[in-house]
Order: sequence, then C-alpha cells, then structure tokens
Amino acid sequence: MKTIGLLGGMSWESSAEYYRLINEHVKRELGGHHSAKVVLYSVDFQEIEHAQSAGRWDDAARILCDAARALERAGAEALVLCTNTMHKLAPDIASAIRIPFLHIAEATAQEVLRANVKTVGLLGTRYTMEQDFYKGRLAGSGLEVLVPTDEERQGVHDVIYQELCLGQVKAGSRERYQRIMEGLVRRGAQGIILGCTEITLLVKPGDASVPVFDTTAIHAMKAAGFCLGA
Ligand code: GLU
Repeated sequence: MKTIGLLGGMSWESSAEYYRLINEHVKRELGGHHSAKVVLYSVDFQEIEHAQSAGRWDDAARILCDAARALERAGAEALVLCTNTMHKLAPDIASAIRIPFLHIAEATAQEVLRANVKTVGLLGTRYTMEQDFYKGRLAGSGLEVLVPTDEERQGVHDVIYQELCLGQVKAGSRERYQRIMEGLVRRGAQGIILGCTEITLLVKPGDASVPVFDTTAIHAMKAAGFCLGA
C-alpha cells in the first residue's frame, strides 16, 4: 500500500471526514484490520483564515509549501490538499514537492462528467465561487459552471466560515442552502458541486432535486484509490 499525505486543518472539521472516508474505503476493499497509510499535517486554520481575508496569499503559500515539503519528507507518496479554496495556491504547492498533487477540481470534474452532467451549480467560499482558479479548471474540463447571486454567495460564504468551520451545523442554514441550490437548478444546473469540504457536514444528497457532487468524498476516494495503487 502507498502512503498518502493529507495537508489539512482547513478546517479540521472536514479533515476528520477525509481521514474517516479514506480509512473506511481501504477497509472495505482489503477487509480485516486493514487501514490506510496516512501522514497528516494539520495547520492552525486561524493563521490561514487571517491571511486569506487580508489578501496575504503569499504568507498562506509559505505555510502550505512548508507543510507540503514536511509531508514529503515524512514519507507521503502523493499529496492531498483538504480544501477547495486553498487550491488557489495549487501551482505553488505542487512545484514545492516532487510527489504527485491530487487536484480536487480535477477529480470532481471527472466525476461530474462521468455522471453525464454538463451544467453544474457551484457552492463554496467566495474565493472558490468567484475566482478563476477553480471555475476555470472546471470550465477547462468542458463544464458550464453557474454560481449563486452576489447576495447568496455572501450567505454561503458566511455559513462556511462562521458556522461549519467552527463545527456548527444549523437547520436554518441547510434550508438556506436548499433554496440557493433550487435557484441554480431553475437556471439550468443539472447537478450541484459542494465545492467546499465542510458543506458535506450540512448538505446531503436528498437536499437538492439534482445530483450533488461532494468534493470531500470525491477527493477522499481519489486519495484512497492512490493508497491502493489506482
Ligand atoms: N474547507 C473549505 C474549502 O473547501 C474552506 C476553508 C478554507 O478556506 O480553506 O474551500
């Protein structure tokens, strides 16, 4: 079995999901007492969040590149960055290491296309919904990407940072997300990408009238597949 490196803590609430999902998959595949070979580097999210909101992306890049190198030194054979947003820095991180970088948007696009969905709604942080580093990657794979209105984007973003990253899962916020997802469906979305690794804590498949693509689960399965030699 190969060793996967998880660069997490953004937030730890979702990194815990990655850890559980990867181990469950390896156990399902190999049985017995098998579990995944994992090296985890979990950052202090406050430092990252402050750098993001102040636009100090270079500082965040330094922290994440150092962490990625540490994972490589610790024996990781591929790197999984457990957040959609920080894939803004994917080029910096990937060039700081020699091991493969398993990109979350690439894995997600493959899954969406496999489901024969061409137009997707995207939920995530404002960075993910508004900037090109993520949407561009999806569009480059041939997908048409719809995002919520400006006011809705702010609401989705606030729920992520003020609730989900703090471990708070509220029914009112789920209803808000449901309304926003239905708005995207009315505009033509054939599926919804949960493009933030904490949204899986709030939104489940039955919460939308179209298929939802859970980036945490998709990325974790990619990681588990790597461990098993896929
Ligand atoms: N985990 C989140 C994401 O997937 C947001 C937290 C962060 O800013 O990294 O985008």
